[in-house]
Amino acid sequence: MIAAAFGRGCRVLRSVSHFECRAQHTKAAPKHEAGSGFNFELTEQQKEFQATARKFAREEIIPVACDYDKSGEYPFPLIKRAWELGLVNPYIPESYSGLGLGTFDSCLIFEELAYGCTGVQTVIETNSLGQMPVILAGNDQQKKKYLWRVTEQLLMCAYCVTEPSAGSDVAGIKTRAQKKGDEYVINGQKMWITNGGKANWYFLLAHSNPDPKAPTSKAFTVFIVDPDTPGTHIGKKELNMGQRCSDTRGITFEDVRVPKENVLIAEGAGFKIAMGAFDRTRPTVAAGAVGLAQRALDEATKYALDRKTFGKLLVEHQGVPFLLAEMAMKVELATLSYQRAAWEVDSSRWNTFDASIANAFAGDVTNQLATDAVQIFGGCGFNTEYPVEKLMRDAKIYQIYEGTAQIQRLIIAREHIEKYKN
Ligand SMILES: Cc1cc2nc3c(=O)[nH]c(=O)nc-3n(C[C@H](O)[C@H](O)[C@H](O)COP(=O)(O)OP(=O)(O)OC[C@H]3O[C@@H](n4cnc5c(N)ncnc54)[C@H](O)[C@@H]3O)c2cc1C
Repeated sequence: MIAAAFGRGCRVLRSVSHFECRAQHTKAAPKHEAGSGFNFELTEQQKEFQATARKFAREEIIPVACDYDKSGEYPFPLIKRAWELGLVNPYIPESYSGLGLGTFDSCLIFEELAYGCTGVQTVIETNSLGQMPVILAGNDQQKKKYLWRVTEQLLMCAYCVTEPSAGSDVAGIKTRAQKKGDEYVINGQKMWITNGGKANWYFLLAHSNPDPKAPTSKAFTVFIVDPDTPGTHIGKKELNMGQRCSDTRGITFEDVRVPKENVLIAEGAGFKIAMGAFDRTRPTVAAGAVGLAQRALDEATKYALDRKTFGKLLVEHQGVPFLLAEMAMKVELATLSYQRAAWEVDSSRWNTFDASIANAFAGDVTNQLATDAVQIFGGCGFNTEYPVEKLMRDAKIYQIYEGTAQIQRLIIAREHIEKYKN
């Protein structure tokens, strides 16, 4: 293993990324040159990222995924191993000791991890969601303090936006931050926070403007919050339908004092920062959904090649291969969709429209494929001894978190209609 040669934080992908120049998808798109254009070929470096994540998912995640699903235990040994391989925190810039990957390259990794278990992938991907606002909007001091250290040691973080009374309607959150001297005092309740009980720091959105009618562009501030701060109460781990090894909790903030140094950019700038992270992370969520869909297709195909009814293999009855063909079409298109959204943002282009399409489409596709896979397995599909039952439970969240299927459609419609107004 190359990792052994790298001492502290021995990370295979670091050696890969330093081996050659940055991947094409992590750089702004080059100007069009004769002979260049659309290209579906991954770079050698991207193939290495993909292969490392694929090997880890198939050899180390899949064998234990069902046990974690049953116990609900946080998959810390898997995360640690993934961190050693360089598969956690891919976005941290090179100047802060990270790999500095773009969204496209990160998607390749998250898709493979999700193939193994989307509970594990969600835990790892949420680290990037929590870090993204700091990467995009943090100052040098904040980046040194909160990004550098996650490359030095395995530390988790969380993105605290949703509340019991406001999920889709982010601007409706009730958590308040009040400035007192050099500190802000935070009061409120967050809900459904992934890594909530495991994070070493939180990214948190709060209403900070004393004027309740202030526009969203001035009403909110975002903070980095240390979970050990007095007044932070972490709730019990939620028992969810799927992705059960992921740690989801409510967190209450009661007179939690946060120094002003932990504000990102400035008071009032919070809403844009919190929402801006999604342009980069929504394609990775879609990539996770594709990983699950690909797994459903693989499991269903293998089963259809093995199971006989009426004296013939399932694949020899026309209805089943047609269903497999439909499934394969959807995986292909969902893959292209997330790759387009990732490529756009890596090229410094506005990708909100594409990111929402990728997210909505992949979320629907993964649910359809998980259900189809259960159907192909027949009675066995309904049973926990077979792999596809877990896939069906795990798939549902892809139509809910980081913007529900309906909210993605609202965004797509808004962006679409806007084009016709110009
Ligand atoms: C397992 C899990 C992990 C999560 N992790 C995190 C996390 O780490 N950090 C975080 O901040 N949040 C997290 N969330 C929260 C998640 O993002 C929200 O649950 C999601 O945004 C939906 O919000 P809600 O649950 O309040 O549903 P609601 O907003 O109440 O929506 C209920 C239903 O109404 C629909 N709806 C709402 N408004 C409209 C509208 N205008 N038009 C059409 N339909 C509409 C929705 O699509 C949905 O179907 C997580 C949730 C879960 C379940």
